[in-house]
This record gives sequence, structure tokens and C-alpha cells, in this order.
Amino acid sequence: MSEEKSLNFIEEIIETDLAAGKHKSILTRFPPEPNGYLHIGHAKSICLNFGLAQKYGGATNLRFDDTNPVTEDTEYVDSIKGDVQWLGFQWANEFYASDYFEQLYAFAVKLIEKGLAYVDDSTSEEIAAQKGTPTQPGVRNQYAERSVAENLQIFTDMRSGKYADGSKVLRAKVDMASPNMLLRDPIIYRIKHAHHHRTGDAWCIYPMYDFAHGQSDSIEGITHSICTLEFIPHRALYDWLIEQLEIFPSHQYEFARLNMTYTVMSKRKLLQLVNEGHVESWDDPRMPTISGMRRRGYTPKSIRDFCDRIGVAKRENLIDLSLLEFFVREDLNKTALRRMAVLDPLALEITNYPAGQVEMMQSENNPEMPETGEREIPFSGTLWIEREDFMEEASKKWFRLAPGAVVRLKSAYIVRCTGFEKDADGRVTKVLAEYIPESRSGSDTSGVHAKGTIHWISAAHAVQAEVRLYDRLFKVENPSAEEGDFKSYINPDSLQVIEHAYIEPALTAAQVGDHFQFIRKGYFTLDAVHSNASKLVFNRTVTLKDTWAREAKK
Ligand code: ATP
Ligand code: MG
Repeated sequence: MSEEKSLNFIEEIIETDLAAGKHKSILTRFPPEPNGYLHIGHAKSICLNFGLAQKYGGATNLRFDDTNPVTEDTEYVDSIKGDVQWLGFQWANEFYASDYFEQLYAFAVKLIEKGLAYVDDSTSEEIAAQKGTPTQPGVRNQYAERSVAENLQIFTDMRSGKYADGSKVLRAKVDMASPNMLLRDPIIYRIKHAHHHRTGDAWCIYPMYDFAHGQSDSIEGITHSICTLEFIPHRALYDWLIEQLEIFPSHQYEFARLNMTYTVMSKRKLLQLVNEGHVESWDDPRMPTISGMRRRGYTPKSIRDFCDRIGVAKRENLIDLSLLEFFVREDLNKTALRRMAVLDPLALEITNYPAGQVEMMQSENNPEMPETGEREIPFSGTLWIEREDFMEEASKKWFRLAPGAVVRLKSAYIVRCTGFEKDADGRVTKVLAEYIPESRSGSDTSGVHAKGTIHWISAAHAVQAEVRLYDRLFKVENPSAEEGDFKSYINPDSLQVIEHAYIEPALTAAQVGDHFQFIRKGYFTLDAVHSNASKLVFNRTVTLKDTWAREAKK
């Protein structure tokens, strides 16, 4: 299928480069900063970088962009590696920008020696004031006149810890009049006496993003360095540094970041949701994180298909969450085993069914995958059905249970409703029915036609489980674009916990990672965190149909 699709602009560039012999093979990288868990936006970047390498017979490095010692942690490193592998990708090399600190330091020395970098003692306020504005050129201060020898000495002393945080910076000497503010003698090294999760206390100066990223690309020989649009203004500096340092000419290409409706996608905001207890954790099934989606029951294939479908854009846009859900349904419909579960139980008594009798009914595991065969479901005279499948007074269009109505019990018999019982509050407590013995599924000779089919669980065999239903995390399409605190748009009803649902006995064998379709109720998976030997907890991955699309049409 991907062969027939037209090429995206990055593919076009790669094909041109390969045809021109510019590169023998391509090397891409995925460069996460280990300061949080990966989200669906990162999945887009992962699918793009690894996907291009796969398509063109190249390779992809996983590079941790760990130049900021303060916010980074090995917990994040481990989760990122797990998420990339779960999505189905394997990196050629696992690298860390911090592995290059010595090399990057040498690059900085080289720039100083070429008269292209200087140590500036100004405060950050002074530096900002001297930078000018987009319409006014900046001014160089006296520190730019320091000699090469003096700069080398001070930079060495900066490294050895002689100076306090913030007292000096190393700046590249580019162009204080450039219309691109990032070229106005950008800071490339700062002093930070901080412990780094990998290099420990070896360094007290750290390279800035712009000095680390492109140079790391170049050290690794990355041919196509793909990032998001906000890095467009950085490209000039990326190219300038590579040119001045005379190193491998990596190139940067930008595409639009993925934004999705009804969620937020910055690690900083996601961290707030976790820290302030709006969600359980980074892998809360409502989170747009890869770990949250995994726990909720999304499959790697559905996420890859989604990323493939949305393609590579050059302009920012907001992708509808229901498109991702569409791919989740499409995958799970093919692979999930069908089971029965009653989420809001109401008793159904079949008054003419022999007391104490139990029959084993056969039901398909997945009609889309006949090779999965059938399972047995115990049937008896006392069942649980879904409360919403009964109506005291039904209209003509009601094809489920109501006094006098007939309905098929899935994979079992047709029953005719004969009455119901209520409690003192007027709440229906039990539905009464008679079954038609000749109507057994698979050998129905009754001649009775039931328009509706409902699911059920034999009360004596029912297993209790907790079921968690999820809705969108935010009430508005784009919480980040709304006025005020994005958290004031959190949907208070995004989690509904059903403590006493009933599931069929076959579901006691469910394992974390299994996917089920609870007939008529949606796709479900065992919750990896709350389930244990004495309590089964299922997460609803997604409903069977797009209920929001239906709402919108009303
Ligand atoms: P956030 O803004 O969520 O904190 P980030 O850009 O700081 O994300 P990084 O760890 O630096 O996160 O990102 C690693 C890679 O993933 C980068 O190449 C980045 O451009 C890409 N990426 C991050 N967010 C998105 C997104 N929403 N869509 C596409 N790519 C993204
Ligand atoms: Mg970043």
C-alpha cells in the first residue's frame, strides 16, 4: 500500500539525495530528552525516523539528548527505551549526547581558536538587552574583544570549576545584526554546578541545545536530522556550526508537530497533570503517553497506522482524536477475542427453564479469525442482563426486552418477556421470561424471529470484576489554546469506575496485554496496575462506535 502512496517531502529529499549519490545509505535518529515519558507526538517522530530508515534500507540511532543535568532521570531513559521497542522499532545504536561532552568541549575550543567564540561575563539581563530586537541590530560588548589566549584560559577555568553558575557564558561569534535573533552571538556553554545522571560531577559546564544537537548529529554521521517546525530558525546556526567546525554535514529538516484534540501534548503540562494528581500517573489510561495508551489497550499497530495515515505536514494542525480511535477499533476488530460482560446487571429469570439445569453454549471467539475457534459459555435459568436492555414500556422500534417482546440471548435461546418485578422505590429488580426450547442457536427450528440479540451471563457462573470506562481528558478541543489555566478544562467525568460488573468465566484467564471485545460494549483489556490475583480490573480501550460523532450529529 505504501508503494502506491505519493512520497512525502522528506521522502522526496531522501530519494533525490540517494539518486545523486550524496549518501550511500541514510542514518536518522530519534533524540528524546529524558525528562518525561513519551507521548503520541513522539510516536509520530519515532514512526517517521525509524520508518524512513526501514523504507530506504538505512538505520536509526536512539540518542538521549541529555544536556540538561537538572531535569533528567534514568527512570525516563528506561521508559523511553521500552516505549520505542513496544512500538515495534529497534535502534542501531543507543547514544547519549553526554557521551560527546569531551568532543563538544574540543569543538568549543576549536571555535575559540578560530576567533569564533568568546567568554562573556555579562549578566543574562545585559546579554538580553544588548541583543536588540527583530527590527534593531544588537550590539557587541567589550568581552567580544577578548584575545584567543584569554578566552582559552577562562574557558579552561570555567571547566575546572573556578566560576559560579551564571557568572560567565561562552558565546559563538556569529552576527549581532542578523535578522535571525538566534545568530546574534548565541550562548553555547553555560556554567552549572549540577550532578548529571550519567556523567556525575565530571562537568560543571554544559553545552546548550544548539551546540549539542547538530554536533551530535554530525559525530554520528546522521544524514537526515528531522525535527519539528519550531526549530526552523535554529537551522542557520546548525549549518553555521557544522561549516565552521568542518565536520560531517548533517542536514536538518522540519515537519509539523502532531497536535491532537481533547488533550495536551507537552511534557511540562503532562508532568503537572501527574504531580497535581489530576491523573494517577504517567501511564494513566487517559494520558496521551505511549505508556498510557498501552495500559488502556491501544496496540502498536494502531498507533503506527495512525501515524502513517496522518503523514508528514509542513504546517501545524490539530488531528482529531477519533482518527486514532478509528485505527484502534480497526486493529482490535480483527484480533480481539469476543467475550460477554454485563456492566449494569439486572436479573432475568427464565421461569420455564428446568431448575438446576446448566447447558454449555458454543460461541465464536472471533468471527474475523475463524482459526480462534469457539468457547463454551454456561447457560442456566437465572441470568444477568444489561439493565438498559429492558424497558417497561417499549416503543415499536425497541428490539430488546419489554413485556411481550422476544429477543435472542446471544449464542443461546430466544426468550419472550412475560413480566417484571419492582422494589418499593419503583426500580425494576427482575425481568421474567420464558424460553423457546426449539430456538437454541445453531439448531433453531422454532420459526420464531427475534429482531434483537442481547448478551447475558449465567448468575451462578458469573465472575465479578471491576470495569473502568474512560472519556476524553479535557472538555474542550484544544485546552492549550483556551484562556487561563489549561487544567480548568479537565473533564471531571473522564473516569467511571464500575465496581461490580459480571464477566463470563473464560475471562478469568485474561492476561495483561490480551485484548477483548465485550460484545456490544467495546474493546477491553486487563489493567496492568490494579488487577491482581483476587481482583480483575478491565479498562475500556475504546467503544465499538464513535459515540462522539453520533453526539455531534444530534
Ligand atoms: P515536549 O514539547 O512534549 O516536551 P520535546 O520536543 O521537548 O517535547 P523531546 O524529547 O525533545 O521532546 O522530543 C524528541 C523528538 O520528538 C524531537 O525530535 C521532537 O521534535 C519530537 N517531538 C516532540 N513532540 C512532538 C510532536 N508533538 N509531534 C511530532 N514530533 C514531536
Ligand atoms: Mg525538546
